[in-house]
Amino acid sequence: MTGPHRSIRLIEDRCTSCMICVRECPVWCITVQAHTEPDAGSEGSRRPRLHNVLDRFAIDWSVCMYCGICVDECPFDALAWSDDRVTPAGSAGGLVHERDRLAPAPGPVSGPA
Ligand code: SF4
Ligand code: SF4
Repeated sequence: MTGPHRSIRLIEDRCTSCMICVRECPVWCITVQAHTEPDAGSEGSRRPRLHNVLDRFAIDWSVCMYCGICVDECPFDALAWSDDRVTPAGSAGGLVHERDRLAPAPGPVSGPA
């Protein structure tokens, strides 16, 4: 990695809920939950095509090692480093950030370093 990396952002519209980041994270601090829905227009087909719909994406910063494996391994560049610091929380549970808090601020985001 290059430069300061203080947190990770989720660019949600790129995430396919493939779970690779969940499997590759060495400390299992990423949670992804999703369900499948038929593709538009394929409902009446004998075998409708399905796509994943993201229900939950969370990172537990209390155990994250900032190793960057998730950013490097995401095949869809849905994770990116951010220079924003993870703000302290009053409890360990407060360091579990859901997708609304992982969303990037408006403006450009960086890809894998
Ligand atoms: S690896 Fe990327 S696309 Fe797959 S679930 Fe994680 S963030 Fe989403
Ligand atoms: S930076 Fe490393 S420890 Fe933190 S969520 Fe990504 S893979 Fe897991």
